[in-house]
Amino acid sequence: MHTKKIVVFRASSCQEKRVPMTPGVAKKLIDLGWTIALQSGAGLNSGFLDTDYVGVHVDEDERVLADGASCALCFGPLTSEQYSFLPKTCAVIGLLGGDRAPDYVHSHSAYSLERLPRTSGAQVMDVLTSQSSLYGYWAVLDGARRLPRVMPMMMTPSGRLNPSHVLVLGAGVAGLQAIATAQRLGAVVSAFDVRESARGAVESLGAKFYHFSEETLRDKMGNNGQTTVNKMSERIQNQAQSSSGEGQGGYGQKVGTDTLLAQQDLIGTLLPKTHLVIATAMVPGQEPPILITNSMVQSMPYGSVIMDLATDRLDAPLGSSGNCAISRRGEDIQLYGVTIVGTSYGMSHMAVDASTMYANNLFAFIQYAWDDHMGGINNDLDLVKPLRLSLA
Ligand code: NAD
Repeated sequence: MHTKKIVVFRASSCQEKRVPMTPGVAKKLIDLGWTIALQSGAGLNSGFLDTDYVGVHVDEDERVLADGASCALCFGPLTSEQYSFLPKTCAVIGLLGGDRAPDYVHSHSAYSLERLPRTSGAQVMDVLTSQSSLYGYWAVLDGARRLPRVMPMMMTPSGRLNPSHVLVLGAGVAGLQAIATAQRLGAVVSAFDVRESARGAVESLGAKFYHFSEETLRDKMGNNGQTTVNKMSERIQNQAQSSSGEGQGGYGQKVGTDTLLAQQDLIGTLLPKTHLVIATAMVPGQEPPILITNSMVQSMPYGSVIMDLATDRLDAPLGSSGNCAISRRGEDIQLYGVTIVGTSYGMSHMAVDASTMYANNLFAFIQYAWDDHMGGINNDLDLVKPLRLSLA
């Protein structure tokens, strides 16, 4: 029988509050014959004390923890020093950054969970879905508390309060959860996505869907500049023929400059009556599209809020922009009476539930991928192959 040891280090960034192992998952793994080694205090920011991890070896020394480990679980990449302590045979599993992972991760077998196929069969181990879904929920609540107005319509003896208008950019997992949350709070919600295929999900949640098209361009420009409309429409039509906005794996596709400008035009018509924007538009492996320019921010009502989740990418340094040209990762910016929040480690605000879901996803992955006879991850499995970053 091979050793089965999992090691979990404390997060290397003090802003990362999540832990990839919960006491509940640790117990299930121990019951399956695993030994778990946890760095002291790793679960503290997620509400889990060292003593909650019953049956787990808790230690401070990374070298001791790493000794004999067959798997290391993490969120972002481990530090190069932590890697140096791990046995060469140890599999490192986490959100390692895919193609953007640091070079040193290639010294071990690395499994980058961003690459998991987004299919219903893989959903139980889909960490992007579990984390993004919570992120969309949190972004609406955090945005709503920053607004100087209520979300639902309120009829009161002191007068009628109109509902807030929420615009969600990018109707992927985070966007859809943001739509559902804003709807539940009573806001008037609309969403924009480059993928026409997102329409069904958005409309089933009761929100209005905007997709870039010739028709929306025409509506926007009305009777003004008909020639420009025709020219732009022609360009758009040409692009639309080659693309439905949907790229490989169901992800959004990077759009050309003309399309992006037209998308900005469309969003620009919505912003003067939008109080809260939840921006989640992303294209894997690319910088996020700038959908809101400086002048568009200026057109928003006083007191509006932009929650830019697209700034929050593991490999993006603090200060990186997202879907809004003004936003900066890790900063709250006040400009033209609008608050622009560039989120950073935003999931840490939901650390208890985010850790619980992530740990459950990893448990499902280990159950699926670990082969007791081989004493390692089975690299021939369909859902494992795309995750593999290196051949150690
Ligand atoms: P993501 O985080 O990569 O992107 C978020 C959204 O931004 C996407 O909807 C994308 O289309 C959109 N976007 C990109 N460029 C844009 C632009 N210029 N303008 C407007 N919107 C733009 O996506 P995600 O949330 O990780 O989801 C990716 C895909 O995976 C989606 O199609 C989702 O439905 C699918 N998915 C499927 C399952 C499943 O079990 N079948 C599970 C999870 C996700």
